[in-house]
Amino acid sequence: MKKHNILALGIAAILTLAAAEPAMAYTLLSPRRAWASTPIAVRVYTTGNSTVNDGSGGVSATVSAIKAWGVVSSSTTSQQAVRGSAPATIMLNNNGKICTGSCLAATLTGYYSGNTIYDADVYTNTRYSYTSSKETDGCSGEFDIDGIMVHEVGHVIGIGHSSVSGATMYPSVAACNYNNRTLENDDTAAKNDLY
Ligand SMILES: [Zn+2]
Repeated sequence: MKKHNILALGIAAILTLAAAEPAMAYTLLSPRRAWASTPIAVRVYTTGNSTVNDGSGGVSATVSAIKAWGVVSSSTTSQQAVRGSAPATIMLNNNGKICTGSCLAATLTGYYSGNTIYDADVYTNTRYSYTSSKETDGCSGEFDIDGIMVHEVGHVIGIGHSSVSGATMYPSVAACNYNNRTLENDDTAAKNDLY
């Protein structure tokens, strides 16, 4: 009986510890890989998804939002993404034939056998409507392009999905949810693991 009680306490302590340490819930892309140096240049193609283009500010909102990672420099570009060639490029108007169905956006990373990332490209599913921090007409059934692209740039720099609900790297997000614009402790821990 006594041995059984000790075991039960041990399990409870582990559960408590796990709950207090959500920073351990992130994952890194496998195999582990990172850019050789920072800041990592990420460019946003100037043609946005039609729902966040130009006047709606989706391109400029994305350029600003992805700086949340701290290790990223960002700008616009008139050059479309070229898979396998730097710089890292975000396409807001193109699904790259990889992001369909319930996928909002997806990231491809290229890396050498030494596990140094040399290119990453982000594609966006144009079947959905998006809003941005630059839009002023409210949100109804739209997905937040700022937060989505902060999430995707997490993949660009080498981070995988997190099991922490509320973390930017959690694998799903609801319409009109803006929480992914800001990093949680779990996201920052993942970045600090790599850089
Ligand atoms: Zn993801």
